[in-house]
Amino acid sequence: MLKGKNILLGITAGIAAYKIPYLVRLLVKAGAKVKVVMSPSASDFVTKKTLAVLSKNQVYDSFYDTHGNWNNHVELGIWADLFVIAPSTANSLSKMANGSCDNLLLACYLSCRTQVMVYPAMDLDMWLHPSVQNNIETLKGQGVLVKEPNSGALASGLEGQGRMPEPEEISEHVQEYFEKGKKWLGKKVLITAGPTQEAIDPVRFIGNHSSGKMGIALAEHFEVQGAEVDLVLGPVSKQPDIKAGRVHPVTSAVEMLALSEKHFNDADVVIFCAAVADYRVAEISNRKIKREGVEDMTLELVQNPDIAASLSKHKNKQICVGFALETHNAIEYAKAKLKKKNLDAIVLNKHEQQGEMTFGSDKNQVHIFNKDNKEFVSEFKSKKQIAEDIETCLYHWYFN
Ligand code: C5P
Repeated sequence: MLKGKNILLGITAGIAAYKIPYLVRLLVKAGAKVKVVMSPSASDFVTKKTLAVLSKNQVYDSFYDTHGNWNNHVELGIWADLFVIAPSTANSLSKMANGSCDNLLLACYLSCRTQVMVYPAMDLDMWLHPSVQNNIETLKGQGVLVKEPNSGALASGLEGQGRMPEPEEISEHVQEYFEKGKKWLGKKVLITAGPTQEAIDPVRFIGNHSSGKMGIALAEHFEVQGAEVDLVLGPVSKQPDIKAGRVHPVTSAVEMLALSEKHFNDADVVIFCAAVADYRVAEISNRKIKREGVEDMTLELVQNPDIAASLSKHKNKQICVGFALETHNAIEYAKAKLKKKNLDAIVLNKHEQQGEMTFGSDKNQVHIFNKDNKEFVSEFKSKKQIAEDIETCLYHWYFN
């Protein structure tokens, strides 16, 4: 997955350029944002229009566009999380190694602060020429990731080393590059989120105002950091942006418990973020309850299972994290909850912050503490940023 990654794709004038539109498609499909910068002659091999349509972005090939506006190579370099140059001709490699700057692609290379990955592609004798090999060594010395060409049939009719890897292979390299930096790779995180709805009859339920935004932000953030996430989600309007098949929709607390149990054993971290209804009606009417002839009504309620407490009771390797929302004596109550539910850490929500309600809001402020008395108080900020704070605390406290 390349969600949230910006990839600047440089194309130089080699015959393998005709394969790059397919690479653009693969990268976009994997979730990346792609911008293309071409050397001036690259458009002899592949059209700007094709690349613009597939990348859904303007394609850059000169210092000024057709309206005379300056194409800012510094901004392109800063925008990129990775600069991939494929194919890289002997000519472009030479210019890069020697600091030449006579086209926009080279200016991007010189001003780029991020990792550059190059795919040399040329005829076999060119590739083996000492001048080319010297340039390759110089570029490696500058920190450029040089992906050596594959061997096989070449456009010249000769056979040998010089082929650009296929787009699928390049796309895999790009994904591997981003995977490496992910600290939660190989870890499983189970998250409960959203409200539960406890049916009264086929059309009515007992529920609460939880929007699920905090739990969804956590799921999205942990996935971006490489974790395998399972999100057990009550009825919410927001669609989580995580891998298909990792969202497990539920309605009631009993369903939420059943699905959470299913994923609990495999999890390394479990975050109980859901606002679970404490009670459900003792007997759900299978017909709509009619008002006629009924003056007052009393619903008999029974207690719902406490999902956090019942799963944390059986934890072995799992780090279990709860949430608390209190209106008074907040820290004291939250600490008591941490103990009572056998949790490792708890995130205390402030019910009301600077005039905004926690429920439904995009912002929040939390106080996170664990049973070893480690603690962290966040600023009042977006739930996305709070998700990052929670993840960072858990990583430092338990996995570093
Ligand atoms: O007891 P209280 O509802 O305040 O506890 C809040 C914490 O317990 C949250 O982490 C919530 O997701 C979890 N919880 C649960 N099942 C319940 C009630 C709360 O998992 N039935």
